[in-house]
Amino acid sequence: MMAGLLFARAGIRTVLLEKHADFLRDFRGDTIHPSTLDVMAELGFLEAFLKHPHQEVTTLAGNLGDQVVTVADFTHLPTRCKFVAFMPQWDFLNFLADEAKRFGTLDLRMQASAKELLWEGGRVAGVRAQTAEGTLEIRADLTIAADGRESVVRKEAGLEVVELGAPMDVLWLRLTKRSDDPHETFGYIRDGRIMALIDRGEYWQCAYVIPKGTLAQLRERGLGEFRRQIGEIVPFLTDRADELRTWDDVKLLTVRVNRLRRWYRPGLLCIGDAAHAMSPIGGVGINLAIQDAIAASNILAPKILDGTLSIRDLRAVQRRREMAAKLTQALQLFIQSKVIGKVLVNGRAPLLGRLPGLLRWLPFLPRIPGHLVGLGFRPEHVSTSPRSFGARDANGT
Ligand SMILES: Cc1cc2nc3c(=O)[nH]c(=O)nc-3n(C[C@H](O)[C@H](O)[C@H](O)COP(=O)(O)OP(=O)(O)OC[C@H]3O[C@@H](n4cnc5c(N)ncnc54)[C@H](O)[C@@H]3O)c2cc1C
Repeated sequence: MMAGLLFARAGIRTVLLEKHADFLRDFRGDTIHPSTLDVMAELGFLEAFLKHPHQEVTTLAGNLGDQVVTVADFTHLPTRCKFVAFMPQWDFLNFLADEAKRFGTLDLRMQASAKELLWEGGRVAGVRAQTAEGTLEIRADLTIAADGRESVVRKEAGLEVVELGAPMDVLWLRLTKRSDDPHETFGYIRDGRIMALIDRGEYWQCAYVIPKGTLAQLRERGLGEFRRQIGEIVPFLTDRADELRTWDDVKLLTVRVNRLRRWYRPGLLCIGDAAHAMSPIGGVGINLAIQDAIAASNILAPKILDGTLSIRDLRAVQRRREMAAKLTQALQLFIQSKVIGKVLVNGRAPLLGRLPGLLRWLPFLPRIPGHLVGLGFRPEHVSTSPRSFGARDANGT
């Protein structure tokens, strides 16, 4: 969506395909990072955006059973907003879609699923998509695969994927939020179990972490036992765990961490999870996907406009973004193996045990994760200017 918006804003006729009929999927994470909020300001959207219901989270805390520790602090970031905005991602995508449509150069097609690439003389010349009305062929100077971790397009392009692995999957479920619930804590780790809570106003969106591939065993033990486990990790949820009536109320999200060796073919570029599928650890995948989109439009839009786009430019996007993705994945893999994997297998992680003591000595430590989550390794800024009718300037007019 961000790539579609930016290319359209630069004055390029852009077709954006979304396979679903709406954006009402709840499995992508709800975080709008401080660096993205800066970009919203650069685009002139920030004020309008912050009028939509959201929570402003300045620190992230973890409950380690007997104590609560701050693990990330966003209050010292060199950004306009020193918080992560939590907003259901469908609201964020609808907001961007409405803004993008103002440019008049964006053709957003819902229920249009890319199925195959169109090739012309060894170059990707567009896609063939399935829509509610039948098959649609779109020819393009540039095709961007931003179709997530199950990317059909990257598979069609035959790009080589390096699997990095993840020791866990996530169970996604909702439980009612009450006005007297504590809300300072984001993650809970207790007795070998891990759960994160996202505040969605009326309800808690809960992410319950399980060792990879063990859902069948959990189901065998029964829903009653699962409800009991939830109450053990987050005691204030005990009285409402029975809102989970059947296993249909519990969705499995498969975690995958991988990346492409090469993000492009002539005429095609992969970005976001399609280029580097991110673990949920740190909640940073959305930030990276957006930063990829900005880098892609900064580098490629001027080339498309003057008709000089070449494979060198696609390589330049990968060069600019690859190190940030690799470093972030390296950190995620480190936490997966030293914390998540250890807690799930042994019930405890020595590194986590040392954390409270470390924080007493170095109270500023949470600023480092705050920086990595809030900004990432290489924040991007929009360098293209708006060309089309309906564009807002940086003051939002
Ligand atoms: C359990 C879990 C929790 C997470 N929580 C967070 C979090 O809190 N914060 C965070 O920053 N990151 C989080 N992440 C990572 C984050 O979800 C991804 O890194 C991010 O969504 C990648 O964005 P994307 O635009 O590349 O792909 P996606 O968000 O997956 O978007 C891809 C889009 O393409 C559409 N699509 C797919 N195939 C086709 C097709 N063939 N034709 C047309 N459209 C298609 C999809 O419907 C979707 O709209 C989480 C990941 C997991 C697994």
